[in-house]
Amino acid sequence: MQIYNTLTRTKEEFVPIQNDHVGLYCCGPTVYNFAHIGNLRTYIFEDVLRRTLLLNGYNVKHVMNITDVGHLESDADDGEDKMEQGARREGLDIWELAKRYEAAWMADMDLLNIQRPEVICRATDHVNDMIDLIAKIVEAGYGYIANDVVYFDTARFPKYADFARLNLSGLQTGAGGRATAGEIGKRSATDFALWFSNKPRHLMQWDSPFGRGYPGWHIECSAMSMKYLGKSFDIHCGGIDHIPVHHTNEIAQSECVTGQQFVKYWMHGEFLLLESDKMSKSSGNFITLKTVADKGIDPIVYRYFVLQAHYRSELKFSWDNLEAAQNGLRRVYALRDESDPLKDDKEYEAAYAKAFAAINDDLGTPQLLSVLHTFGSIRLWLAFEPILALNIQQKRENIDAALPEEVLVLVSQRNEARNNKQW
Ligand code: AMP
Ligand code: ZN
Repeated sequence: MQIYNTLTRTKEEFVPIQNDHVGLYCCGPTVYNFAHIGNLRTYIFEDVLRRTLLLNGYNVKHVMNITDVGHLESDADDGEDKMEQGARREGLDIWELAKRYEAAWMADMDLLNIQRPEVICRATDHVNDMIDLIAKIVEAGYGYIANDVVYFDTARFPKYADFARLNLSGLQTGAGGRATAGEIGKRSATDFALWFSNKPRHLMQWDSPFGRGYPGWHIECSAMSMKYLGKSFDIHCGGIDHIPVHHTNEIAQSECVTGQQFVKYWMHGEFLLLESDKMSKSSGNFITLKTVADKGIDPIVYRYFVLQAHYRSELKFSWDNLEAAQNGLRRVYALRDESDPLKDDKEYEAAYAKAFAAINDDLGTPQLLSVLHTFGSIRLWLAFEPILALNIQQKRENIDAALPEEVLVLVSQRNEARNNKQW
């Protein structure tokens, strides 16, 4: 498998750290609202990665976190905690809010045939792991306390700018979303909070050696990924928005303590755009899977729509494009065994190899779909269902059950004629 590594900005051959075992960590949802279809695009990309690793014969340990505390409105420690904001919006207890949207997220995952990671871990269940890691960071000299907040001292970590190729002198002046307003005593604009003890009215609080309070957002991913996958693991994923702040901070927090390379391959999914604007929950500019279902469109059509674009390309959402995807998927469901053009085993093997090469080239889902459409072989489509997960078999059976025998005969005759180019 070739995969594009954000760390080196090149496509590389994938070689796991340990034989055929793959440790995979993906940043999960902040459960203060429904996931929008942009978030879901990222989870579909990660599911395709997982499934492609499995089809290649690897044993995958996939870990995903649930953020239920500490994620502020801005990824750079600014504004209100998103969970508190959500609880106020809905007049709900904050723990109830977390439960509600975790369940909603799982339901979305199921509707999109996204496989459950082996480990799903909530931040609030791992506060002690975070406290331990923060203590190690402070002990190693990378943390300082200012105004009852424990900060990570980015100036002490010389590699800080490398991953995202940041221009630090630009960031010092407050550019790049690293606001410093209200953060008294913070030494540098890129420093970030590990622990807050400055908000006694925050709805979630834990005792810690640094005072009663709650963790910053970034520390949960370092603490939980290393807890379940070890100090160094194979692949870490997320949306591209995570490169300059969240993942940059994860690397700093982890490597300053372990002295080891945190992650071997970093993979990032591009954004789903809505009429040329990025979709975001805070701007209210968002569509959920329920919006799709309410229009009478099967959510799996959205999965197919996402697979039509490469994960590293921006994808524009429109209802017209989704309808076009629906028609494309219907053509797949209409394929029949009797008229399968790949009857010869040698031809089938060659077609299979071509399709496999497409997906193994940095998850080339558009190329894979194009190969499958070109051959128009239902056997070949079904062979890639472990990755595509488009409910092809089930839909075909439903269609067959709904059609009278004489129509099925006609469909089969028409497919046969089409294959023989008898228009
Ligand atoms: P959040 O629930 O806000 O923490 O985001 C969950 C995941 O969705 C993260 O990996 C983000 O990078 C990703 N994400 C956020 N917005 C978009 C978007 N418009 N398109 C694709 N992925 C996104
Ligand atoms: Zn994360």
